[in-house]
Amino acid sequence: MSPSLRRPSIIPDYRQSGLQPVPKPWRDFPLKGMLLDADTIRARLETLASEIQEQTEDGPLLMVGILSGASVFMADLIRQIRGELEVTYIGVSSYRSGITSGSLAWTLPLQVDIKHRRVMIVDDILDTGRTLEMVTTHLESLGPASVKRCVLLQKHRESLHQEGDAPTIQAEHVGFLIPDTFVVGYGLDMDGQMRQLPFIGSVLLPES
Ligand code: 5GP
Ligand code: MG
Repeated sequence: MSPSLRRPSIIPDYRQSGLQPVPKPWRDFPLKGMLLDADTIRARLETLASEIQEQTEDGPLLMVGILSGASVFMADLIRQIRGELEVTYIGVSSYRSGITSGSLAWTLPLQVDIKHRRVMIVDDILDTGRTLEMVTTHLESLGPASVKRCVLLQKHRESLHQEGDAPTIQAEHVGFLIPDTFVVGYGLDMDGQMRQLPFIGSVLLPES
């Protein structure tokens, strides 16, 4: 079987997992607890990196990270991929304040020509799917050979599924399935804060 036909790994499912205590140096941050620790993230990235590395056997990849959330994930991921790749970033903002989602806007346009190239979009989290859908549509309009997607987290929102509004866009590579909770750390922020946490934590929201 050709390596590119191998199935992606089973996605670790943290939808029912409880929170762990926040590691000591980070206890002053407004967190309910830790969902994914740094070692768990590192181990999973090894698998994602090898899945993506297999794809470089069919030709070089252009990894397109979505700023700012994907910056930490991208930095760790690419350092484990030994195949041929290039890295660039685009900026998309969803104008969120806290957890409310608004309209999408480009904050940094694509800097490279992606015509006939094999593109891998990298983002921090797939929630409603609007961001990945907009970025995919835009990149596909520029004539690439292919566009695939890799996200660290995929959030499962029961309410969206019940309303028939589940994301139509899928990511070919997903790090972890997580519950419907607002998470921060490892690149993900709340109002610009907490991106530097080396783990994924669940925030303490006023209403929770
Ligand atoms: P979507 O467009 O799929 O609803 O959301 C994707 C974007 O929203 C992500 O790139 C991320 O910036 C933001 N987002 C969605 N859920 C969360 C979350 O739980 N925590 C943080 N910090 N950002 C989120
Ligand atoms: Mg983002």
